[in-house]
Amino acid sequence: MKLTNLFYGGIHVAFVNENYEKLQDSYLFANIAQKVAAFQKEHPDQKIIRMGIGDVTLPLAPVVVDALAKAVAEMGHKETFRGYGPEQGYDFLHQALVRYYASFGVTLDTREIFISDGAKSDCGNITDIFSDANTILLPDPVYPVYYDTNVMRGRKVLFMKGSPENDFLPMPDDAVQADVIYLCSPNNPTGAAYSREQLEQWVAYAKRKGAVILYDAAYEAFIDEGDPTPRSIFTIEGAKDCAIELCSFSKTAGFTGTRCGYTVVPLGLKRKSKDGTEMSLNKMWLRRQTTKFNGVPYIVQRGAEAALSPEGIRQCRDNLRYYKENCRIIGEPLDSLGIKYYGGKRSPYIWMQCPDGMKSWEFFDVLLNRFAIVGTPGSGFGTMGEGYFRLTGFGTHEDTIEGMKRLKEGLAKE
Ligand code: PLP
Repeated sequence: MKLTNLFYGGIHVAFVNENYEKLQDSYLFANIAQKVAAFQKEHPDQKIIRMGIGDVTLPLAPVVVDALAKAVAEMGHKETFRGYGPEQGYDFLHQALVRYYASFGVTLDTREIFISDGAKSDCGNITDIFSDANTILLPDPVYPVYYDTNVMRGRKVLFMKGSPENDFLPMPDDAVQADVIYLCSPNNPTGAAYSREQLEQWVAYAKRKGAVILYDAAYEAFIDEGDPTPRSIFTIEGAKDCAIELCSFSKTAGFTGTRCGYTVVPLGLKRKSKDGTEMSLNKMWLRRQTTKFNGVPYIVQRGAEAALSPEGIRQCRDNLRYYKENCRIIGEPLDSLGIKYYGGKRSPYIWMQCPDGMKSWEFFDVLLNRFAIVGTPGSGFGTMGEGYFRLTGFGTHEDTIEGMKRLKEGLAKE
């Protein structure tokens, strides 16, 4: 008799997904919170400056708030009430995204756009349409969700090293056979963004290897208009044959609590199943979403549509400018102290080298205990993050100025 389940003390129990055993506990933010709470208890009068925040702090743009309110009112009337919507999103938001992409030179078909409740869900859910036999290639350091969601599937994961030598922008290596490649540009946590030439090399590599690039563009809006840095992988010729793009209104329009994102899966993107059958990834994703997802609220999609209107884009960009000004404020004293850092120009993140060869958590303790500043240890984003530290521009100007004044004066005295 084939043993399919375990018997404990004669009781039949189900198997769980054993891949979860391989996941490391996520201590990063819990550890930070614990250390900060202990410090505050010991120093109740000390004002703590929080520069580790990975969340937006400015309110939604006024045009977005108006659109949300209007949509709420519609839901209160029989004639305009909406029930279930299309799982892949309303046409009005697809159309708004088609216009948005056209503004940076990308032509999309509305059927290529899938609205979701955010890029984090899509980063995890997209693993459904790929075989577990694939080898996954990830940059290090990077947003930890890519690694964890693939470990949950028991997949083989390879890393490509981000370091000062490559400005934290790892490039393809033909000796490596990867099937699914994650790129995050501008990157969380380093703020580094790939140039057009670099992305062209990635697209060429993916095509040579038959691989698919999962391109996370969650921070694309931090790239200024007029900056030649690509805002979408689809600005690269041939990318529609080898890439899927994941994006979000979270950082662009302050939707971290409102929840809306989108994934672009080109109509022509095809790969084979193990038995050699050619499959459309667009059709597979549609099937996945219509089976496991019931769409984003109508109200939220109206808010997202407003964020993409000309006035919405203007108002959202004002907020991004505010965060980037904070990054400039952070960068100034680092420059004068001769501390090397990356990012800040095309992202809300400053990725700094810990001074005096300190490790990430050592520097965390110094910043907290001596200056009452909280940041995020780089080692939490991968082994290559050790010795680095992430500061963010998501705080207020006042706090950022105060925090950097404390840091500059304190470190200069040494
Ligand atoms: N991708 C990256 C690179 C991120 O940094 C984040 C959030 O921090 C996300 C995706 C998640 O975005 P969302 O709020 O849309 O789930």
